[in-house]
Amino acid sequence: MIFNSTFLFYSVHLATRHQNSQITNAKLQEACKRKYLSCIPPLNLVTSSKCRTHLSTTDSIISKQFQGQHGRAYLFETVVNVEEGPSEERHMTTGLHTVKDIHCSRCRSVLGWKYEKAYEQSQRYKEGKYILEKQLLTDVN
Ligand SMILES: [Zn+2]
Repeated sequence: MIFNSTFLFYSVHLATRHQNSQITNAKLQEACKRKYLSCIPPLNLVTSSKCRTHLSTTDSIISKQFQGQHGRAYLFETVVNVEEGPSEERHMTTGLHTVKDIHCSRCRSVLGWKYEKAYEQSQRYKEGKYILEKQLLTDVN
């Protein structure tokens, strides 16, 4: 069977939705590498709701109990295809933190922030981790 790039592109999304086992992960990886800067295996994908760029996976979610600028936000272990803004100190409900806003490498929209440093000992687990605003992501349960 010949897979052209259009077919493969749609297959990525079909497989994400229906977990179509007939399409192998290798073919999907090959397909999305043509389209995105970094490629995430198709299952449990978290993408930007605006431009569909791959951002992370549901496996990478550390906590869903965060508050962003637009409501609920999630803390992620790893995020790809984002660029970091300058470091800023921010007073949050959990104390002072040094953070960097993160924006989508593709459409440039701000998606959340990365924790560089937490000054309270109890908040140190957030260092190096990322906040993504739920409203800006494709459906994550
Ligand atoms: Zn984007």
